[in-house]
Amino acid sequence: MASIFSRIIAGEIPCYKIAEDENYFAFLDINPVQKGHTLVIPKDEKDYIFDYDPEYYAGLWKFAMKIAKAQKKAIPCKKIGVAVIGLEVPHAHIHLVPMNREGDLDFDSAKKLTLPAEEMQQIADKIVKEL
Ligand code: 5GP
Repeated sequence: MASIFSRIIAGEIPCYKIAEDENYFAFLDINPVQKGHTLVIPKDEKDYIFDYDPEYYAGLWKFAMKIAKAQKKAIPCKKIGVAVIGLEVPHAHIHLVPMNREGDLDFDSAKKLTLPAEEMQQIADKIVKEL
């Protein structure tokens, strides 16, 4: 069965899309750990990020770099933090999280945010504008 992320790529489940190319896709995390938290995913669905061939894997990070640069311009923060965790959704993904201190990358589900749709859309629009 297709992962929830493959269903997002296919447009079956809505998302706040940031960018897409032939191989990769970026969208806002629905329960961000910080405002602007974005997921970058390969369109080729595999659970484990180190199972891709090296070229495709390198392309994912190159795509993520573009997104992180746009996030950094759009969201006031010191850096964009990076994490690959992948225990919840079995489809490889890179978390890109605007951060001001190390504790800002806390994936404890009890601390995650649920923002109004309007605010999520505004954040997505700001990042997209900087691409
Ligand atoms: P992980 O697998 O890295 O532990 O976490 C998966 C991430 O995907 C979580 O941060 C979660 O909030 C996010 N997520 C799970 N389902 C959806 C969804 O349907 N839409 C979006 N935009 N994000 C999701």
